[in-house]
Amino acid sequence: MANFLDTIFPKSCAICGKKGSYLCNHCKKLFKRALPECYICRKISPDYKTHYECKEERKENSLNHVFVAWEYNSLSSILLKKYKYNYVQSISHTLIEIFIESIKNSTFDKKLKGTLLTNVPLAKDRLHERGFNQTTEIAKRVAEVFNIPFLEDQIIRKDSYGHQSLRDKDERKEIKEGTFTLRNSLSLDEFSSITILDDVITTGATLEAISLVLRKNVSKDTEINALCLFRGRPYYSETSESGSGTPTSPPSSGSFGNSTSPASASSRAVSTSW
Ligand SMILES: [Zn+2]
Ligand SMILES: [Zn+2]
Repeated sequence: MANFLDTIFPKSCAICGKKGSYLCNHCKKLFKRALPECYICRKISPDYKTHYECKEERKENSLNHVFVAWEYNSLSSILLKKYKYNYVQSISHTLIEIFIESIKNSTFDKKLKGTLLTNVPLAKDRLHERGFNQTTEIAKRVAEVFNIPFLEDQIIRKDSYGHQSLRDKDERKEIKEGTFTLRNSLSLDEFSSITILDDVITTGATLEAISLVLRKNVSKDTEINALCLFRGRPYYSETSESGSGTPTSPPSSGSFGNSTSPASASSRAVSTSW
């Protein structure tokens, strides 16, 4: 079947159009692996763990670990747009498979043991407009590969919301209390963690709003984690865009014991190893 389809629709790179594969080796290399960091202060943090001190600031809705596969850049933007608004099976397949590869190559795969996977829902009008929720497609495959349960459509998004390209401050404004609810009062106690899948994380406000709803249904020890495909570079590594947005101020340096200090722009720009 695959060979038959290849004959009718010859494979070509979703970004540059080069024939032979859905994502050519050249374009693959342009994806930059995001380094493990605390999603709040954005300093390097082993195992993608949120610092205790940072969690204190955000109170009970903060997440325990947030995995991000790649830095969001103009290329990821092209790929994601094609995937989101012009659903093409081949692009979706490629993106999902390299995402899974990226999780496997990280320390986060251990965090998926005993977890329940769920995903960020789309508002009804968006779902109608687009016809599918891309995070559902990704989550289904991740659940299959890592052999973990996936609960689809368990979180409900009440209101429509702004575009993903909104700047950070707008995301916080858009997400109000009550934006998300759970479909049923679920028993989530048997799981050691709940993992929320999203495609792009900006401030983390969306994930935190979902985390807040989930926390009401789990024991205190249950971790709330997230798996994301892309996130823009940390503010401290941005050179041309500094001054844009409203970055939260980082905790004073040295407050996290022997944790790594913020990496410089050059040291963060490591090519992804596939
Ligand atoms: Zn290419
Ligand atoms: Zn932190």
